Amino acid sequence: MKREMLAYFDRILKELLQEITPAMRPLLSYRKAYGNFHGPMDDVDLTNMQYEQQWVIQTQQRKGEHARKTVHALRRIKEGTFGICEGCGWDIEINRLKVQPTATLCIVCMRQAENPGAQGSWSENALRF
Ligand SMILES: [Zn+2]
Repeated sequence: MKREMLAYFDRILKELLQEITPAMRPLLSYRKAYGNFHGPMDDVDLTNMQYEQQWVIQTQQRKGEHARKTVHALRRIKEGTFGICEGCGWDIEINRLKVQPTATLCIVCMRQAENPGAQGSWSENALRF
């Protein structure tokens, strides 16, 4: 991949990471506040709290996973492996990276990972060879 393109993705990924990190902070303080709550609770309060805690945990996990993928992509830029499919070693389509800069698989490998039984379609394989 060209150096200008790598610089472009480096910038995009760093911006992404900056967006994710502060977004996690209010969730953390929210969770902390609930953890310190000692007032009397009825079943409805308890159900609501459990539901909300579950939501907070799920949201954090999603953001945490997104942050992890973003850091991984930035590391790949540094190591010179960004844009190379971790499945087959071919280049990941540039348009795919523009939509999802954290992608580590080309479209063919991603489809195979999602649906291991299926073979790539004829037209996809024909584009390769
Ligand atoms: Zn691949």
